Amino acid sequence: MTRRFTETSLLVATHNDGKLAEIRALLGPFGVDVTSAKQLGLGEPDETETTFLGNARIKAHAAAKASGQPALADDSGIEVDALDGAPGVYTADWAETPEGRDFPMAMARVHDELEKIGAPEPRTARFRCTLVLAWPDGHDEVFEGKIEGRCVWPMRGLQGHGFDPIFQPDGYEITLGEMDPDEKNRISHRADAFGEFVSACFG
Ligand code: IMP
Repeated sequence: MTRRFTETSLLVATHNDGKLAEIRALLGPFGVDVTSAKQLGLGEPDETETTFLGNARIKAHAAAKASGQPALADDSGIEVDALDGAPGVYTADWAETPEGRDFPMAMARVHDELEKIGAPEPRTARFRCTLVLAWPDGHDEVFEGKIEGRCVWPMRGLQGHGFDPIFQPDGYEITLGEMDPDEKNRISHRADAFGEFVSACFG
């Protein structure tokens, strides 16, 4: 049976400010006070698994153990069909540089690789989000979400974060980077997974 979430504050196992802002907005209506692993000064464990679920579990359990309270982790990324699902679980890695994350560079790499193989339009893709809520006793609950769309070029829009400027969701003429944040939070992979989380753990 699903374990319910009964605390008034939730620790989110992330150092990603873009994700944290979205998670705060998504949980706003439930009166949950959100703190992040970054705010508590907790370390970032190595993401050594090869699936979103594996890496979300590593982050959630590490934060729950270190803090002694339930912790929620989000592992997410973009899968491009013509690239056999890449960058997928390695989405963040494609943006890594010695000076920090460079998303314009990572988005250009997606485009360059699609051009190199002459991928036909539409260049279908999806964002996936896996949430793991872990308790200090080792129990966890898993929730998954996705949003289907296509990769476009050039990049468009300054809203959102990460790969949003090259992702155009199905049924829209704008990218997630051009979308109002409230609208993104209604339709995104993260919103989809949070819908599951909220109805299972708060409902
Ligand atoms: P993680 O922190 O290991 O889960 O890495 C997730 C990667 O996917 C990061 O590079 C994010 O920028 C990217 N990503 C996840 N969700 C989104 C989103 O909603 N929009 C754009 N990029 C995202």
